[in-house]
Amino acid sequence: MGARTGRQFLDGLRRTQREIWVDGERIADVTAHPKLAGGANSLAAIFDRQHAYAADCLYTDPQSGEPTNVSHMIPRSREDLRRRHAGLVRLSEGSMGIMGRTPDYMNMKFAAFASAPAVWAGADGRNERGARNIVAFQRHLAKADTALTHTIIQATIDKRTDARVVGNRAAIRKVGQTDKGIIVRGARVLATLAPYADEQTVYPSQPLPPEATDYALSFAIPLDTPGLVFLCRDSAAAPGADPFDKPLSSRFDEQDAFCIFDDVLVPWERVFIDGDVAIYNSLRETGYAIGMTTQSTIRALTKLEFAYGLASRMAELIGDRSPATTEMLGELACYVRLTANALELSLEKAWQRADGVWFPDGAVLDPMRSMLPVWMPRVAEIITLIGSHNLLTTPSRAQLHDPKLRPLIDEMLHGADGAAADERAQVFRMAWDFVGSSLGGRGFLYERFYLTSASRNKQMLHERFFDRRRARALLDDMLSRAQR
Ligand SMILES: Cc1cc2nc3c(=O)[nH]c(=O)nc-3n(C[C@H](O)[C@H](O)[C@H](O)COP(=O)(O)OP(=O)(O)OC[C@H]3O[C@@H](n4cnc5c(N)ncnc54)[C@H](O)[C@@H]3O)c2cc1C
Repeated sequence: MGARTGRQFLDGLRRTQREIWVDGERIADVTAHPKLAGGANSLAAIFDRQHAYAADCLYTDPQSGEPTNVSHMIPRSREDLRRRHAGLVRLSEGSMGIMGRTPDYMNMKFAAFASAPAVWAGADGRNERGARNIVAFQRHLAKADTALTHTIIQATIDKRTDARVVGNRAAIRKVGQTDKGIIVRGARVLATLAPYADEQTVYPSQPLPPEATDYALSFAIPLDTPGLVFLCRDSAAAPGADPFDKPLSSRFDEQDAFCIFDDVLVPWERVFIDGDVAIYNSLRETGYAIGMTTQSTIRALTKLEFAYGLASRMAELIGDRSPATTEMLGELACYVRLTANALELSLEKAWQRADGVWFPDGAVLDPMRSMLPVWMPRVAEIITLIGSHNLLTTPSRAQLHDPKLRPLIDEMLHGADGAAADERAQVFRMAWDFVGSSLGGRGFLYERFYLTSASRNKQMLHERFFDRRRARALLDDMLSRAQR
């Protein structure tokens, strides 16, 4: 089939009887329920977007010959990387970067996974079947253009003992097997996009200790697989709200769900890792983290650019040219420029793996995983500081349309330099929806944690990934000079 349309995506969601719970209700049709429909429609618009911007977002898959989303591409040249980059930018603009888990996020990971079957197979080929399965699954993903969710983090029960993993009865683990496949029980967090996904995927994040074989699993299953239960967080979708009044929450709540595997059968053909801790711990070698960081940094740049545009217009609408505000806008501009620079440099320093697959330079992007979780909350703070009470003096559409109120609003609540009351209300409403609504709060939490916390990322950067040779050489040089 290749790239789907929005209608095909929504029809696919309606066809499956997934177990999605919001509050006390099991949702029969996620495309129609007021708490979920806004997100479904926005994702449908993103599927349509890939056709509207086909020159950027689609490529001809060499195997199927079909127009396919660029995020499924396994890049074979620098030009492929640039082409994919342009498509990802277009896709992120669909939600101004507010939806972090548009399907391209997972597609990028699985393209990298499938590009390296030898890593999945293990050096001695002991997991050949798993390697074949992951490649076949990625082909299916690209051809059917399905949307994935994923859970890679063990649920927190007791932080003093969780890291030991073995014996953790809340964590997902293998509890049996039949001739059809493995039986899986336990939970994982936090499946963003779950109500809108076609399949659930499980794969490694944090390394496991050698004895944790039952926990070393990777697989993919359709969302309507029996025993798969999703407990969604409270909706941030502002059900029933006028889209003028809640322009972002009414559209961009992508949902997050606690995922329970209640003795779920995973068919053999969908099992990628079954108990092999060494392979489980080696998947970074596939390059998937580079794909993930590339997509998420492109998405973050769009969000930063949007925030900069929003904050700048807010300041103009209230005639705020104070040094304090100008400095904060300059700070926002720095985040935009630094993020753009990192992406550009990652492309310029792109490299080719021995098997011919191309990657952006992951080392250039690594620090973004530590800094964006800090910058994004600061951006929200800047918008709050510039906005102040103006974030709340925002007539609703109903008030703006009221014949008695409108002349009063026009007289007393217009913007600076003759800006109309509607625009002022619209911009400040959007700003409050961005930082102060339930969606804004969830966005804060998301940016802080979706690629693990900034603290963990900084520690990993220092301990594992950063090449410290030049820093050490400079120190040694100066130490030797000091002895002279
Ligand atoms: C909105 C949202 C959506 C998400 N979506 C998904 C998803 O789709 N799929 C998925 O698998 N996961 C998802 N996650 C989960 C996410 O992967 C985890 O929240 C993330 O890995 C952080 O783990 P944690 O919550 O256990 O926090 P931790 O990393 O344990 O951090 C908790 C606190 O401890 C601090 N901390 C932790 N370690 C250290 C340390 N070594 N030194 C100092 N301080 C430390 C942190 O700074 C933080 O304040 C999502 C999370 C959120 C909030």
